[in-house]
Amino acid sequence: MNCCPRRLFIFMVFTAYLFFQISGSAICNSDFPIRDLWEKYISCETLEEAKQYVESNSFGLYYYLLPPNSAFSKEVDFLSEEIFQECGRLFLRVSGYKFWIPVKRNNKKWVFTMDERSLLDELTKNWYKEKIGSIQYYSDHKMTQKERFHGHLLSDVVKYYEKLWGIKVNDIRYYLADEPENAVNIVDETNPGAGKSRYRTIKAVRTSFHSHELAHLFALEIGFVNPFIDEGIANYLGSEPKIRDIKDVEELLEYTNLGYEKFLNGAAFFNEHVKKRKNIYGLSQLVMKYWVEKFGFSKIKDLLRQGVVDPGKIEVLIPNVLEPFARTNCGIKEILIKMRDDPYFMKLYFRNNPVVHPK
Ligand SMILES: [Zn+2]
Repeated sequence: MNCCPRRLFIFMVFTAYLFFQISGSAICNSDFPIRDLWEKYISCETLEEAKQYVESNSFGLYYYLLPPNSAFSKEVDFLSEEIFQECGRLFLRVSGYKFWIPVKRNNKKWVFTMDERSLLDELTKNWYKEKIGSIQYYSDHKMTQKERFHGHLLSDVVKYYEKLWGIKVNDIRYYLADEPENAVNIVDETNPGAGKSRYRTIKAVRTSFHSHELAHLFALEIGFVNPFIDEGIANYLGSEPKIRDIKDVEELLEYTNLGYEKFLNGAAFFNEHVKKRKNIYGLSQLVMKYWVEKFGFSKIKDLLRQGVVDPGKIEVLIPNVLEPFARTNCGIKEILIKMRDDPYFMKLYFRNNPVVHPK
């Protein structure tokens, strides 16, 4: 083959140019920007460093769910990512459980968020839309009369919560999934009654009335502070009594010896609830009711506000804003002993819970 040295030189220069163009663009614009974001976030060594990868009002949620540079976050496997224009999600797996977390682009920079509304717009383009009271419903089926009726009841609960919290929450969206594949895709859960709450959004499986998730939604208006506190608020305001029989009472009495404060740790709370399937929700409900009756709901709001300013400092804040741990453990122990000795007291203790699911 006849090959002129000048041509060969031009060819080599051109090849080198192409190589640098391609490898350069791979460095600047990764094919997996969300995975890059994830890897940067989990390898952060300080809380301050991690904050740059998360939208500010969502930081507490990520800090407790996926603490950076922790043993837990190292157990999490990256699966895939899905990107739309300015939003997307990251699929992860831990202990066989697959889940996703939302991301959005703020000034060309990807960050983790709890505002899923643009993402849900993309994922539910073909769903039915219906405004019921003040709530915008999105459903994968035409809503039934009963579901609409429950929607009106939930809209009344919005008014009640607005008074209690002293805030107005506009643009509440409720995504109602009936089909299992939609439930997995949107809610990450398939059990009827399961739900999740994010910024001004409720996602639920086969229930159009989810007062527990609505209570979370209101707490999230201030910010996510801690799983135990957050579940305490949602269980106290929006759930049925979690202490139903003597077995529950005995189980919770053991917790008072351990100290409820042990479960302010996100991993310990997750372990007790998801892995051991213990009645940690019952404990959070009881502690919250005890606090609200002793200090008033405004103190709980103070706790949230201060917790948002200082994520991860809840162990310091509780004794400052409310009372020392030992005093709460003592107080709830007295209530539990009374429940153990008097079944009527046990049955009636949560009767004033503000909202429960309509039958
Ligand atoms: Zn909850």
